[in-house]
Amino acid sequence: MTATATRVLVLNSGSSSLKYQLLDMHDGARLAAGLVERIGEETSRLAHTPLATGGDTRETEGPIADHTTALKAVAAELAADGLGLDSPQLAAIGHRVVHGGLQFTEPTVIDDAVLTEIERLVPLAPLHNPANITGIRTARALRPDLPQVAVFDTAFHTTMPEHAARYALDVATADAHRIRRYGFHGTSHAYVSRRTAALLGKDPSEVNVIVLHLGNGASASAVAGGRCVDTSMGLTPLEGLVMGTRSGDIDPAVTFHLKRVAGMSEDEVDELLNKKSGLIGLCGDNDMREIRRRIDAGGEDGARAQLAFDIYIHRLKKYLGAYTAVLGRVDAVAFTAGVGENAAPVRAAALAGLEQLGMAVDADRNAVRSDEPRLISPEGSRVAVAVVPTDEELEIAQQTYALVSA
Ligand code: ADP
Repeated sequence: MTATATRVLVLNSGSSSLKYQLLDMHDGARLAAGLVERIGEETSRLAHTPLATGGDTRETEGPIADHTTALKAVAAELAADGLGLDSPQLAAIGHRVVHGGLQFTEPTVIDDAVLTEIERLVPLAPLHNPANITGIRTARALRPDLPQVAVFDTAFHTTMPEHAARYALDVATADAHRIRRYGFHGTSHAYVSRRTAALLGKDPSEVNVIVLHLGNGASASAVAGGRCVDTSMGLTPLEGLVMGTRSGDIDPAVTFHLKRVAGMSEDEVDELLNKKSGLIGLCGDNDMREIRRRIDAGGEDGARAQLAFDIYIHRLKKYLGAYTAVLGRVDAVAFTAGVGENAAPVRAAALAGLEQLGMAVDADRNAVRSDEPRLISPEGSRVAVAVVPTDEELEIAQQTYALVSA
């Protein structure tokens, strides 16, 4: 790395997508961002926004066979803006990696041994880690000399105490198959809990925060003095809150019942719980905007949407109560991600009736729309309630840069 190398390319490789952002850590500026979708299909699409120049988004459609071709296309777009991967200003590439198991507790510079370890974790994240590995291999092939860093979604949760992380399962069976609660969205929970402390003018070590990351996937975490002590997702991202398409907490016997009584296969049950449940299963929509619109329209359809909303909110309240008990003292509740940042009715409903826990929402403050972290609790509230937009790319870039510039 040269003295002038302050840029970090953040890559988030999905099974058929590649999201990226190029950031300059000198001033935190976002230079470019984009997305390749439907990799491997005839109708792949690349959308690249040259943020540094304020230019319009450039869209290209046509077949992109694999991640290598996708990353080369991204590199060409960046090069067209004078931001190519061969630039001496590029300090590192930061990769989002979903599963880091128990061993990866920190961002890690990737070498062959690290890549082998990430491969060993594939059985724990069969949908996600293979795509992340492909992204890493592709980027290493294009710039073998450049530091590449893995930032793990699970890392922030590795501080969970054993009594929170372990399921009450036969210990030998659980350990033989690495079955425990790992938690996900860790990059977001880390970033948002820290930003919430800053909003209160405190050091993270001084505050206890409940973070509600409510996107299409959703998770809650209890963060005590900057360290995660509990989180709602478990072995996989299926556990916990009601999500866009996932059931969240459910009696595991439901799965036996579906197989024995409904005659469903393993894969069908998996698909039902992960893709056809949650909000979409309850009312046919997983977008909170549409659900609110239907509720406002009323009638029978509105009642169906209302029930889905109520089930979603009931689960949130249960986690707020549980994490209040886990933390003992709560200084702040922070809402983040698509629903948490934008859906004022969700925030109001989740905290309604929780005055005994010191939690309340000020209606006027809650109605304000902003991209900035802000407080929505009434003046003098015992618990600060905040809306803190998450920024996983910035967090990955910061962690990557901190590691390679140390
Ligand atoms: P992902 O988990 O895919 O990263 P996001 O954090 O982007 O999800 O959240 C996406 C969800 O946010 C959408 O499905 C929608 O329910 C919700 N959302 C986005 N904008 C709004 C809005 N203005 N009002 C209510 N909900 C919103």
